[in-house]
Amino acid sequence: MTSRNPVGAHVPVAGGLATGGLKYAAEIGAEAVQVFVANPRGWALPEGKPAEDEKLRAAGIPVYIHTPYLVNFGSPSQETLAKSIATVRHSLTRGRAIGALGVVVHTGSAVTQTYDGAMAQVRDHVLPLLDEIPEDGPDLLLEPMAGQNHMLCAKVQDLGPFFDRLENHPKLGVCFDTCHAFAAGHDLAAPGGVKDTIDALIDTVGEGRLKLVHANDSKDPCASGRDRHENIGAGQIGEPPFADLFRHPAVAGIPFLIETPGRAPAPHAKDIETLKRLRDT
Ligand SMILES: [Zn+2]
Repeated sequence: MTSRNPVGAHVPVAGGLATGGLKYAAEIGAEAVQVFVANPRGWALPEGKPAEDEKLRAAGIPVYIHTPYLVNFGSPSQETLAKSIATVRHSLTRGRAIGALGVVVHTGSAVTQTYDGAMAQVRDHVLPLLDEIPEDGPDLLLEPMAGQNHMLCAKVQDLGPFFDRLENHPKLGVCFDTCHAFAAGHDLAAPGGVKDTIDALIDTVGEGRLKLVHANDSKDPCASGRDRHENIGAGQIGEPPFADLFRHPAVAGIPFLIETPGRAPAPHAKDIETLKRLRDT
């Protein structure tokens, strides 16, 4: 099969984006990586180190950036909105420097304002960011959330209004997180659940937009609305849906990245090994 999915992980970058990140990736057998280029719980916008950037570019594996968790284009706070714009712009610029294929951003929450008000902000502020991305820059990947708290997008069908507001921009893509989708009510563990969900995703955004999978099992049952990741096969999703996901034609060749619990390399190495087995058998 020519369309083998790289299996990798979100990797810690202590010691340097490439020095630390690629060392961790090698320890766990990751074939693709996702990194933070800023404190995930802050608004600081650090400069890159050119030598590290070059080393990561030269690594020859798919690289992705996850934007900090505070980013929310639906926020009624003008301060949060301004910082969200600056942060995503920073991640996109850093992404180009490290040769990232995509920058993942959470679809956000309306918090206390109306859905339409929040979505107008998405259009007004995300569309110009998409237009700024040079042709050889990363895609901006929307990641639907687990639901609750006035989330703008949880079910895959909720991506439709995002693609409408953002005019199906050529630099717009999707990151599908299995734990989020399961928590939002897509029963991936039911017979045909993966096929139904991915078919609905493709019906909503069209072919070629799904660019990345976050492969996480879920501690909580389907439709819980809770976003608590579990190691592959140890949660409520279980192993078989991941095997199904590798076999859906719309997922061919797309990297699978784990964001599962465990600080030591051992649980991550096991998750990667499990996913490779499900992919290859
Ligand atoms: Zn995720």
